[in-house]
Amino acid sequence: MRQALHALTEELRRLRSGGLKTVAVSDESIAALRRVVQARAQAGLAAAGGAAVVAPPERTVAATAPAEKSPAPAAAPAAPAFKPSVVVPMHETPPLPPPPEVRLPEGSRQVRWDALLAQVQADPTCRSNVRPGKKVVLGVGSLEAKVMFVGEAPGAEEEVQGEPFVGPAGQLLTKMIQGMGLKRGDVYIGNIMNWRPQLPTLPGAEQVGNRPPTEAEMRYCLPYLRAQLEIVNPDVLVALGKTAVEGLLGFGKFKTLGEARGLWHDFAGKPLMVTYHPSYILREPTNRKKRLIWEDLLKVMERAALPISDKQRGYFLER
Ligand code: URA
Repeated sequence: MRQALHALTEELRRLRSGGLKTVAVSDESIAALRRVVQARAQAGLAAAGGAAVVAPPERTVAATAPAEKSPAPAAAPAAPAFKPSVVVPMHETPPLPPPPEVRLPEGSRQVRWDALLAQVQADPTCRSNVRPGKKVVLGVGSLEAKVMFVGEAPGAEEEVQGEPFVGPAGQLLTKMIQGMGLKRGDVYIGNIMNWRPQLPTLPGAEQVGNRPPTEAEMRYCLPYLRAQLEIVNPDVLVALGKTAVEGLLGFGKFKTLGEARGLWHDFAGKPLMVTYHPSYILREPTNRKKRLIWEDLLKVMERAALPISDKQRGYFLER
């Protein structure tokens, strides 16, 4: 149960980092969460002789987040007051060594990229963070791309295939790229992270769900992203979602993605457009949301001097 709550909380955090502000939770789910949290609170109070169960704040996340924003409807049977007093320890990530030094060889883009791939695949830290049978993930696409997309971290399908954005969010990203009049192979797609951030599982079990990378994990992997940027040397960078923005521009600069999106920023001397992660659209596939991303991509197309037809300019406009 503790793991399930942890996975739920992490998924909510991930949704929020993707820009989602609210989630629909059924009355049954709220009631079930209340029962679990209250049972745990009572067990914790009993075990601690009356003290609440609280783990160190820097490693904790409130397990009650889903219910905090979703008060039970007035008609619900009177439940004891809901107090967010139970916290679940975050998954402890092992300490990481200093970020790797990347020395790219002389030679063509392909020669340099191949050397980088070899370094990432041999990196003991990357390897130790990947479960048996799963892969470390670098980037994919044209090494001469004008546009480079940067996402968050590999998920379940990416760590199997060893390629970024091959799951449902990746399929939507591919459609977005096609909407820009390009093929997936015309752009370069990378991630802040080279491994799927791990969550605890039962021995031998597959990981369910994802968690956002920690600041330390992102700091560790950043030299690999910088090296890809140096090799590809695109005209424009596009950060997909809040985690990617935090990985590139630093933590705590923006409270919400809305503050940063649609605007030009700078990363390593390159113009950086910030937009929503495609998974945001998967969760809320309205034309209004699609248009928001699309307006950001139109700016990217203009900056990268890509042709834009009138039809493209009008995509997802409400009629
Ligand atoms: N989401 C990401 O941010 N990156 C991937 O590679 C897949 C999904």
